[in-house]
Amino acid sequence: MKYQAIIQEIEKVAPLNLMMNWDNSGLIVGDPNKEIKNVAVALELTGEVIDFVSKHKIDLLILHHPPLFHGKLNIESANFKPLLKKSKDIVVYAAHSTLDRTHKGTSYALAQELGLNVCKFLDDGTIICKGNIPFGVLLKKVRIKLKISLKYNGDMKKKHKLIAIHSGEAFTQDHMNSAMGAGATCYIGGDVTHHQAEYAVAKGLSFIDATHVRTEIPGIKTVYFLLKEKFPNLKAHFIDQKEEYWRFLG
Ligand SMILES: [Zn+2]
Ligand SMILES: [Zn+2]
Repeated sequence: MKYQAIIQEIEKVAPLNLMMNWDNSGLIVGDPNKEIKNVAVALELTGEVIDFVSKHKIDLLILHHPPLFHGKLNIESANFKPLLKKSKDIVVYAAHSTLDRTHKGTSYALAQELGLNVCKFLDDGTIICKGNIPFGVLLKKVRIKLKISLKYNGDMKKKHKLIAIHSGEAFTQDHMNSAMGAGATCYIGGDVTHHQAEYAVAKGLSFIDATHVRTEIPGIKTVYFLLKEKFPNLKAHFIDQKEEYWRFLG
Protein backbone atom coordinates (compact mmCIF):
# COMPACT_ATOMS: atom_id res chain seq x y z
CA MET A 1 0.00 0.00 0.00
CA LYS A 2 1.30 3.44 -0.91
CA TYR A 3 1.76 6.05 1.83
CA GLN A 4 -0.18 8.58 -0.26
CA ALA A 5 -3.26 6.34 -0.49
CA ILE A 6 -3.35 5.89 3.29
CA ILE A 7 -2.83 9.58 4.03
CA GLN A 8 -5.51 10.54 1.52
CA GLU A 9 -8.10 8.66 3.61
CA ILE A 10 -6.90 10.31 6.83
CA GLU A 11 -6.98 13.76 5.23
CA LYS A 12 -10.56 13.23 4.06
CA VAL A 13 -11.44 13.28 7.78
CA ALA A 14 -8.72 15.66 9.04
CA PRO A 15 -7.74 17.91 6.09
CA LEU A 16 -4.46 19.84 6.26
CA ASN A 17 -6.23 23.13 5.55
CA LEU A 18 -7.62 22.98 9.12
CA MET A 19 -4.08 23.14 10.54
CA MET A 20 -3.35 26.02 12.95
CA ASN A 21 -0.34 28.17 11.98
CA TRP A 22 1.68 27.10 15.06
CA ASP A 23 1.17 23.44 14.29
CA ASN A 24 3.18 20.85 12.38
CA SER A 25 0.60 18.35 11.14
CA GLY A 26 1.36 16.35 7.99
CA LEU A 27 4.53 14.50 6.95
CA ILE A 28 7.22 14.77 9.66
CA VAL A 29 10.03 12.55 8.35
CA GLY A 30 10.53 9.87 5.73
CA ASP A 31 9.88 9.12 2.08
CA PRO A 32 6.28 9.82 0.98
CA ASN A 33 6.63 7.35 -1.91
CA LYS A 34 7.28 4.48 0.42
CA GLU A 35 5.38 1.22 0.19
CA ILE A 36 3.67 0.61 3.55
CA LYS A 37 2.95 -2.78 5.08
CA ASN A 38 2.93 -2.14 8.79
CA VAL A 39 1.38 0.91 10.41
CA ALA A 40 1.14 2.02 14.03
CA VAL A 41 -1.05 4.76 15.48
CA ALA A 42 -0.22 6.48 18.79
CA LEU A 43 -0.93 9.71 20.67
CA GLU A 44 2.70 10.86 20.79
CA LEU A 45 6.29 9.73 20.59
CA THR A 46 7.03 8.04 23.92
CA GLY A 47 9.82 5.57 24.68
CA GLU A 48 7.22 2.82 24.53
CA VAL A 49 6.25 3.88 21.00
CA ILE A 50 9.90 3.87 19.86
CA ASP A 51 10.33 0.32 21.23
CA PHE A 52 7.14 -0.82 19.53
CA VAL A 53 8.17 0.68 16.20
CA SER A 54 11.51 -1.18 16.24
CA LYS A 55 10.06 -4.45 17.48
CA HIS A 56 7.21 -4.64 14.96
CA LYS A 57 9.10 -3.22 11.96
CA ILE A 58 6.64 -0.36 11.52
CA ASP A 59 6.91 1.51 8.16
CA LEU A 60 4.41 4.23 8.97
CA LEU A 61 3.85 5.85 12.36
CA ILE A 62 0.83 8.11 12.73
CA LEU A 63 0.81 10.41 15.75
CA HIS A 64 -1.56 13.01 17.15
CA HIS A 65 1.12 15.22 18.76
CA PRO A 66 3.94 15.98 16.31
CA PRO A 67 7.46 15.69 17.72
CA LEU A 68 8.23 18.85 15.75
CA PHE A 69 6.72 22.18 16.74
CA HIS A 70 6.85 25.54 14.97
CA GLY A 71 8.71 23.89 12.09
CA LYS A 72 11.76 23.19 14.26
CA LEU A 73 12.97 19.86 15.53
CA ASN A 74 12.06 19.59 19.17
CA ILE A 75 15.41 18.39 20.44
CA GLU A 76 14.03 18.38 23.97
CA SER A 77 12.29 15.26 22.77
CA ALA A 78 15.16 12.80 23.27
CA ASN A 79 12.81 10.15 21.92
CA PHE A 80 12.97 11.76 18.55
CA LYS A 81 16.70 11.16 18.03
CA PRO A 82 16.64 7.36 17.59
CA LEU A 83 13.69 7.72 15.25
CA LEU A 84 15.55 10.24 13.08
CA LYS A 85 18.31 7.67 12.60
CA LYS A 86 15.68 5.28 11.30
CA SER A 87 14.07 7.86 9.07
CA LYS A 88 15.07 5.98 5.92
CA ASP A 89 12.96 3.05 7.05
CA ILE A 90 10.01 4.82 8.54
CA VAL A 91 7.56 7.54 7.61
CA VAL A 92 6.08 9.63 10.43
CA TYR A 93 2.87 11.61 9.96
CA ALA A 94 0.97 13.74 12.48
CA ALA A 95 -2.73 14.58 12.50
CA HIS A 96 -2.79 17.21 15.26
CA SER A 97 -4.82 20.43 14.98
CA THR A 98 -6.27 18.96 11.78
CA LEU A 99 -7.90 16.23 13.88
CA ASP A 100 -8.79 18.58 16.76
CA ARG A 101 -10.57 21.03 14.47
CA THR A 102 -12.56 18.67 12.31
CA HIS A 103 -16.23 18.04 13.18
CA LYS A 104 -15.71 14.33 13.78
CA GLY A 105 -12.34 14.74 15.43
CA THR A 106 -10.93 14.34 18.93
CA SER A 107 -13.70 16.08 20.92
CA TYR A 108 -16.39 14.26 18.94
CA ALA A 109 -14.68 10.91 19.57
CA LEU A 110 -14.56 11.70 23.30
CA ALA A 111 -18.29 12.49 23.33
CA GLN A 112 -18.94 9.17 21.55
CA GLU A 113 -16.74 7.31 24.02
CA LEU A 114 -18.77 8.83 26.88
CA GLY A 115 -22.06 7.96 25.18
CA LEU A 116 -23.21 11.59 25.01
CA ASN A 117 -25.47 12.93 22.26
CA VAL A 118 -23.67 15.60 20.27
CA CYS A 119 -25.85 18.53 19.30
CA LYS A 120 -23.44 21.26 18.19
CA PHE A 121 -19.87 21.78 16.97
CA LEU A 122 -18.28 25.15 17.81
CA ASP A 123 -15.58 26.81 15.69
CA ASP A 124 -12.87 26.36 18.35
CA GLY A 125 -13.31 22.56 18.34
CA THR A 126 -15.57 22.43 21.43
CA ILE A 127 -18.57 20.12 21.16
CA ILE A 128 -21.89 20.69 22.91
CA CYS A 129 -23.82 17.63 24.04
CA LYS A 130 -27.23 17.01 25.55
CA GLY A 131 -27.04 16.27 29.25
CA ASN A 132 -29.86 16.04 31.77
CA ILE A 133 -28.18 13.50 33.98
CA PRO A 134 -27.02 14.39 37.51
CA PHE A 135 -23.41 15.60 37.63
CA GLY A 136 -22.54 12.77 40.04
CA VAL A 137 -23.75 10.18 37.51
CA LEU A 138 -21.82 11.88 34.71
CA LEU A 139 -18.69 11.91 36.86
CA LYS A 140 -18.93 8.16 37.47
CA LYS A 141 -19.52 7.56 33.76
CA VAL A 142 -16.34 9.48 32.83
CA ARG A 143 -14.40 7.70 35.58
CA ILE A 144 -15.45 4.25 34.34
CA LYS A 145 -15.23 4.89 30.57
CA LEU A 146 -11.83 6.62 30.62
CA LYS A 147 -10.40 4.57 33.52
CA ILE A 148 -8.77 7.59 35.13
CA SER A 149 -8.77 9.54 38.41
CA LEU A 150 -10.58 12.83 37.91
CA LYS A 151 -10.31 16.41 39.11
CA TYR A 152 -13.75 17.98 39.27
CA ASN A 153 -15.92 20.67 40.76
CA GLY A 154 -19.70 20.65 40.76
CA ASP A 155 -22.86 19.86 42.69
CA MET A 156 -23.41 16.09 42.45
CA LYS A 157 -27.20 16.42 42.17
CA LYS A 158 -27.34 19.19 39.57
CA LYS A 159 -28.57 18.21 36.11
CA HIS A 160 -26.87 20.06 33.26
CA LYS A 161 -28.95 20.45 30.12
CA LEU A 162 -25.89 21.10 27.97
CA ILE A 163 -22.41 19.66 28.51
CA ALA A 164 -19.35 20.94 26.65
CA ILE A 165 -16.58 18.55 25.60
CA HIS A 166 -13.08 19.64 24.63
CA SER A 167 -10.31 17.05 24.42
CA GLY A 168 -6.66 17.75 25.31
CA GLU A 169 -5.63 21.21 26.46
CA ALA A 170 -9.15 22.37 27.15
CA PHE A 171 -9.46 24.87 29.97
CA THR A 172 -8.36 28.13 28.36
CA GLN A 173 -10.71 31.04 29.11
CA ASP A 174 -11.50 31.28 25.39
CA HIS A 175 -12.66 27.66 25.17
CA MET A 176 -14.64 27.89 28.43
CA ASN A 177 -16.24 31.16 27.28
CA SER A 178 -17.23 29.63 23.97
CA ALA A 179 -18.80 26.65 25.80
CA MET A 180 -20.72 28.95 28.18
CA GLY A 181 -21.72 31.17 25.24
CA ALA A 182 -23.37 28.12 23.68
CA GLY A 183 -25.30 27.51 26.90
CA ALA A 184 -23.19 24.75 28.49
CA THR A 185 -23.06 24.73 32.30
CA CYS A 186 -20.76 21.72 32.58
CA TYR A 187 -17.37 21.24 30.90
CA ILE A 188 -15.32 18.09 30.33
CA GLY A 189 -11.73 18.33 29.11
CA GLY A 190 -8.08 17.85 30.03
CA ASP A 191 -5.28 19.84 31.67
CA VAL A 192 -7.00 22.21 34.11
CA THR A 193 -4.65 24.58 35.97
CA HIS A 194 -5.22 26.30 39.30
CA HIS A 195 -6.34 29.63 37.82
CA GLN A 196 -8.45 27.99 35.11
CA ALA A 197 -10.30 26.05 37.82
CA GLU A 198 -10.68 29.31 39.77
CA TYR A 199 -12.20 30.92 36.64
CA ALA A 200 -14.63 28.02 36.11
CA VAL A 201 -15.78 28.16 39.74
CA ALA A 202 -16.19 31.97 39.56
CA LYS A 203 -18.35 31.56 36.44
CA GLY A 204 -20.43 28.75 37.97
CA LEU A 205 -19.17 26.26 35.39
CA SER A 206 -19.05 22.69 36.72
CA PHE A 207 -16.09 20.82 35.31
CA ILE A 208 -14.35 17.48 34.99
CA ASP A 209 -10.65 17.22 34.11
CA ALA A 210 -10.00 13.73 32.74
CA THR A 211 -6.36 14.50 31.72
CA HIS A 212 -4.86 15.45 28.38
CA VAL A 213 -3.89 11.89 27.46
CA ARG A 214 -7.14 10.08 28.30
CA THR A 215 -9.35 12.73 26.66
CA GLU A 216 -7.40 12.49 23.38
CA ILE A 217 -6.92 8.73 23.10
CA PRO A 218 -10.44 8.12 21.68
CA GLY A 219 -9.76 10.68 18.92
CA ILE A 220 -6.47 9.28 17.65
CA LYS A 221 -7.91 5.76 17.97
CA THR A 222 -10.53 6.67 15.35
CA VAL A 223 -7.63 6.98 12.84
CA TYR A 224 -6.67 3.39 13.67
CA PHE A 225 -10.28 2.21 13.15
CA LEU A 226 -10.43 4.13 9.87
CA LEU A 227 -7.31 2.34 8.57
CA LYS A 228 -8.64 -1.06 9.64
CA GLU A 229 -11.85 -0.36 7.74
CA LYS A 230 -10.36 1.13 4.55
CA PHE A 231 -7.28 -1.09 4.27
CA PRO A 232 -8.08 -4.57 5.59
CA ASN A 233 -4.83 -5.96 4.14
CA LEU A 234 -2.64 -3.49 5.97
CA LYS A 235 -1.23 -4.54 9.33
CA ALA A 236 -2.40 -1.82 11.70
CA HIS A 237 -1.61 -1.46 15.41
CA PHE A 238 -2.82 0.95 18.05
CA ILE A 239 -0.38 1.80 20.86
CA ASP A 240 -2.26 2.92 23.96
CA GLN A 241 -0.71 5.42 26.36
CA LYS A 242 -1.48 4.92 30.03
CA GLU A 243 1.37 6.66 31.76
CA GLU A 244 1.95 10.34 32.41
CA TYR A 245 5.32 12.11 32.48
CA TRP A 246 5.08 12.45 36.26
CA ARG A 247 4.55 10.38 39.38
CA PHE A 248 2.70 11.29 42.57
CA LEU A 249 4.38 11.15 45.95
CA GLY A 250 1.71 10.87 48.64
ZN1 LIG B 1 -5.51 17.33 20.35
ZN1 LIG C 1 -3.10 17.29 22.71
